[in-house]
Amino acid sequence: MEPKDLSDRLRCENRQESLLPEGVRVNVPKVASAHRPQTKPKLGQHFLDSEDAAIRIVDALGDILQSTVLEIGPGRGILTSLLAKRARRLIAVELDRVLAAQLRLKFGMSRNVEVIEADVLTIDFESLFGPKPGLGRPGIEVKPEPVKVVGNLPYYITSDILLRLFAFSKYFDSIVIMVQKEVADRIAAEPGGSDYGILSATAQLNARVENLFTLPPGDFAPPPKVHSSVLRLTIDPQQEKLGVAGDGFIDFLRLSFGQKRKTLWNNLKENYEAASLKRALAEAKVKPTARAETLSLEESAAVYRALRNTQSES
Ligand code: SAM
Repeated sequence: MEPKDLSDRLRCENRQESLLPEGVRVNVPKVASAHRPQTKPKLGQHFLDSEDAAIRIVDALGDILQSTVLEIGPGRGILTSLLAKRARRLIAVELDRVLAAQLRLKFGMSRNVEVIEADVLTIDFESLFGPKPGLGRPGIEVKPEPVKVVGNLPYYITSDILLRLFAFSKYFDSIVIMVQKEVADRIAAEPGGSDYGILSATAQLNARVENLFTLPPGDFAPPPKVHSSVLRLTIDPQQEKLGVAGDGFIDFLRLSFGQKRKTLWNNLKENYEAASLKRALAEAKVKPTARAETLSLEESAAVYRALRNTQSES
């Protein structure tokens, strides 16, 4: 049966008790109250259509009763509904204006939920999660509380989203995301396999990666052409431990993996003199004929450190 008015619909859709008194109507723009807007394939809109899968994804965040959670791309709100019931504070960032308006309507009664219409690639994480001016005391460092991130990501920008989250990793504690299966396999790949590459190295430099489970296209509406996997990334930056703090190491990894078929030597020689390269590889005990995808992060870091030393000597 169709719900009679907005307050009924809030009750049905939110599956929570509405705070609106019986029969109270709220004026909302037509666009926000339209029942099912068309999906926008350009925004990667394949909505999760399995309650079981949604529960498994939210469960993968662990206990969030005391946590702030950032949801990327809440869409029609299948994860949002579960998160709203569990999280202390939920910030849901949706780019699609109509979906954002519908979500605001749906969660208008949930005080712990904030829906922001924005692009996750440009939203200002500093002002969302950073220290608030006026709250600190001189001499006392206020550590921001770590935020948990979750999302069935728009697949077309998976790498960009991950890079952005890593750039602000000081604010994040763990990240549970659904991505295209092949991309998940690459992010979680071990060195030596054909899936290992710059995405694996970058992710593993910043986090411990677990590949949790895979879902078929039929669990989404409309179904995508690919399978999807859920990953959990627990933030654990390795840069200090590996002695490669700063931006230079990522640029070095990019160069090392530059052309997949090429050896490390051939990729690196674009930027380094042969004599320095030879010395650095010998010092790091890495063969010039090796390929970047066979090196562990420790080995890549050893080559980078040796090259940095060689260059600062000359
Ligand atoms: N979480 C919902 C679900 O599981 O059904 C929707 C997932 S859908 C794969 C991706 C969502 O991300 C869509 O709602 C889309 O509009 C939104 N989106 C796309 N690009 C975005 C961006 N740059 N910033 C924020 N949200 C974005």
